[in-house]
Amino acid sequence: MSTAATANKLGFDPDALRDKYRFERDKRLRTDGNAQWVEVKGEYSHFVEDPYIEKDIEREPLFDEVDVAIIGGGFGGLLMGAALRKAGVDNIRLIEKGGDVGGTWYWNRYPGAACDIEAYIYLPLLEELDYMPARKFADAPEILEHSRKLARHFDLYDNACLQTEVTELRWDEDAAMWVIHTNRGDQMKAHFVAMANGPLHRPKLPGIPGIDDFKGHTFHTSRWDYDYTGGDAHGNLTGLKDKVVGIIGTGATAVQCVPHLGAGAKQLYVFQRTPSSVDIRNDHETDAEWFRNLGSGWHQERMENFNTLVSGGFAEEDLVNDGWTEIFRNLRSMVMEDTGGELTKEELARKTELADFMKMEQVRGRVDSVVKDPETAEKLKPYYRQFCKRPCFHDDYLETFNRPNVTLVDTEGKGVERITEKGVVVGGKEYELDCLIFATGFEVGTDYTRRAGYEIYGTGGQTLTAKWKDGMRTFHGIHTHGFPNCFVMGMTQTGLTANIPHMLKEQAEHISYIIKRGLDGNARVIEATKDAEDEWVGTINSLARLGERFYAECTPGYYNNEGRPGEGDGFLSGQYGAGPVEFFKVIANWRDEGNMKGLDIS
Ligand code: NDP
Repeated sequence: MSTAATANKLGFDPDALRDKYRFERDKRLRTDGNAQWVEVKGEYSHFVEDPYIEKDIEREPLFDEVDVAIIGGGFGGLLMGAALRKAGVDNIRLIEKGGDVGGTWYWNRYPGAACDIEAYIYLPLLEELDYMPARKFADAPEILEHSRKLARHFDLYDNACLQTEVTELRWDEDAAMWVIHTNRGDQMKAHFVAMANGPLHRPKLPGIPGIDDFKGHTFHTSRWDYDYTGGDAHGNLTGLKDKVVGIIGTGATAVQCVPHLGAGAKQLYVFQRTPSSVDIRNDHETDAEWFRNLGSGWHQERMENFNTLVSGGFAEEDLVNDGWTEIFRNLRSMVMEDTGGELTKEELARKTELADFMKMEQVRGRVDSVVKDPETAEKLKPYYRQFCKRPCFHDDYLETFNRPNVTLVDTEGKGVERITEKGVVVGGKEYELDCLIFATGFEVGTDYTRRAGYEIYGTGGQTLTAKWKDGMRTFHGIHTHGFPNCFVMGMTQTGLTANIPHMLKEQAEHISYIIKRGLDGNARVIEATKDAEDEWVGTINSLARLGERFYAECTPGYYNNEGRPGEGDGFLSGQYGAGPVEFFKVIANWRDEGNMKGLDIS
């Protein structure tokens, strides 16, 4: 079938849509890119204070020694700890800045916070913990509690240092140990260090003129001030009933908290730069009988099935069957229907674009069917490809704009103009507010060490900041030459999947294999060779360009380095371009070979 005939059948004109997408992208491109954000330090530090600590821990500084220090108590650190415990490595210590484990789920407690990756694949180690999630999609309190369960189950609270922020890592060549400095005066030593700092860790603020001038109440969504708003993660924000509230940002966070703000505030203004794509969530309680009858090994199988589908592969069955996998289901049926499955690369790209258009037409159609005011509805429609930004899934967000006390203030892609003592200015009009909430996300694309919050000094005193100043350099995304016995977890030249805990689990198992081999063989030093690192960087660079072409066409955002994908580190740049399924095979095969190729061990 020709493109035109397909278009007729689908009911939209792909050429016109492509033009509209470009127009909307161009409107939002800006020259300052990542420099548009203000770093949250100095006078802005109060935006990152921990509002959840119930009691300050008091302890003497530590100067002791462990086999493995794990920095970060989110899912990365917890999975690392679990893998080490399972491998029989016991002398370990978790170091965490927050008052408890949980990472992103410790910090993000805003009303409505939840995960829209299915709980049956998102929550780690469900079979080991024998835990049945309450619903298809878990809310933040359940996920935080699951984090605590993991810590208890694998004894990761033992020897842990909570409320402890690492300030520096320094390699002691004579002792072949890392010295870990913290804000509590510690100088503890570790034979191995695993860094699980989290990819979206440091809240960011927009550099809007006048941001310091606002005299009302203000906070970032990742440090929600329930003392002011009342209520809890489930809503009921009674403290806002006589308040005029503004929220800047309409990303995944805002989509979840706006319905609660709309229900609680006297008046809510939602300041929008780019609308999110908001699809049906379709949540439901877990069918206990179905869950009980899932056979052994179901969890890994389900994670792999999802991973295969959302990475563009084909699977006989779509086990998760949600909005993430839907676009690939559409694509498969289009491919099979027209061609019986035989396609050239170009045909596949064209079909993928059509499936995407189809999906986004449906998302835009949903706005029309829910939002009563046609002008507001039009402003809420996303005109870009589905994976240009984080797709959102929510059943109450759009409906909130039908409330008489909720106003969408669209900024025509330009962003908020100015902040004043009294409120926010858009299009020359000042909106007076009692409270201004920043739902403006987290740093991406700045130096790794700036986001981590500490410098790492490797052999010869070189810093990781200096080593990576022209771009990240790793072997398998985990090791970097000159920084022995140090393992990086997260989104560093790795196989990224939408289900991040799956990726972290694979990384943790790989690192624990290497550490265990090192400890069993009495290795003092394990370090990636320069050759192995060069080869991996070469592989990353040769594959990454594929994604870059896609993201160059996208509306700006943190996925594409704010619209400049070739010029810096967007969230998705520098990942292993052949995808997570292949990446997990690469590291599994490397382990199977058993000769620790690419690592110098002494
Ligand atoms: P995002 O970075 O996704 O969103 C920031 C928002 O702030 C965007 O809407 C952005 O607009 C807007 N913004 C920035 N500057 C301005 C300005 N000057 N004027 C007006 N608006 C502005 O942060 P989130 O906290 O929403 O989400 C971060 C990530 O966390 C998600 O992408 C997702 O990966 C994860 N997450 C997952 C959830 C889930 O599972 N459901 C829930 C919450 C978060 P623009 O788009 O134009 O840049």
